[in-house]
Amino acid sequence: MKLISIIVPCYNEQEVLPLFYNEIQKIISGMQSEHKELEFELLFINDGSKDNTLMQLREMAKNDERVRYISFSRNFGKEAGMYAGLENAKGDYVVIMDADLQHPPEFIPEMYKYVTEQGYDCATTRRVSRKGESKIRSVFSRMFYNLSNRFTDVDLVQGAVDFRIMTRQMVDSVLSLAERQRFSKGIFAWVGFRTKWIPYKNVERIMGKSKWSFWGLFKYAIDGITAFSVAPLRTVTFMGSVISFLAFIYIIFTLIQTFVYGIVVPGYVTTLCAVLFLGGIIELSIGIL
Ligand code: UDP
Ligand code: MG
Repeated sequence: MKLISIIVPCYNEQEVLPLFYNEIQKIISGMQSEHKELEFELLFINDGSKDNTLMQLREMAKNDERVRYISFSRNFGKEAGMYAGLENAKGDYVVIMDADLQHPPEFIPEMYKYVTEQGYDCATTRRVSRKGESKIRSVFSRMFYNLSNRFTDVDLVQGAVDFRIMTRQMVDSVLSLAERQRFSKGIFAWVGFRTKWIPYKNVERIMGKSKWSFWGLFKYAIDGITAFSVAPLRTVTFMGSVISFLAFIYIIFTLIQTFVYGIVVPGYVTTLCAVLFLGGIIELSIGIL
């Protein structure tokens, strides 16, 4: 037998949850009739929802033994949800997807084929259109990908979405990175493995609304860049070295000047040298730290 775990982070998804459950069940039975050896586990993460999501999950878990759920004490964000899901999934293959049907469940059988028949470790999706998304969000999103690819050591694929299937081996690698400020897209790229990208057109949320505010996304983007880049540290180190080097030259220069012409304004040179030189050294040390 082979077990596939499907991880679904949910935050205030009472409108879409029943629809999602319906759709996923169809896909599961379709896959089971084609591959007799398959078993499924649905692992929902209730990320501190304030609506009826938790009640619905309880009900589902009671009536369907394939359903399990984890419920957070408050809203911790989707990253925390995905991490908890990965840590607790038991499957030989693990799927991560959104509850709002923006990640079409029909892709799962195709994704499964890639990892079982074609030797991939992971199959995931990439949006080739952003229809239905706000203009501003698309512009900033593109900007983020360009910046991130230029300044970090991981290559992020434009339009990548958190909808994927992974082998157990890849899941274990992802879990071995026990970072606190997680940026999963970067982590998935960083661990490597053979990844199949499936292009698809953006699907609009079926009901309810997006849980991401502009600022939420902005902060997330900063996390993404700082988590995978040493560029800010290198900049500080570089600036510190330049400043202390220039200060050093200045000290030598003013010393010679003082010996030749005598003291012009008492005390001022010593203060300036100390401030500049120490400033440079401090910045350099911060960079090293
Ligand atoms: N989500 C979550 N915690 C949050 C925000 C979102 O678990 O704090 C879940 C949400 O329920 C959904 C998925 O993450 O299943 C994607 O969220 P959403 O559809 O709001 O994001 P978008 O599709 O607009 O990027
Ligand atoms: Mg969505």
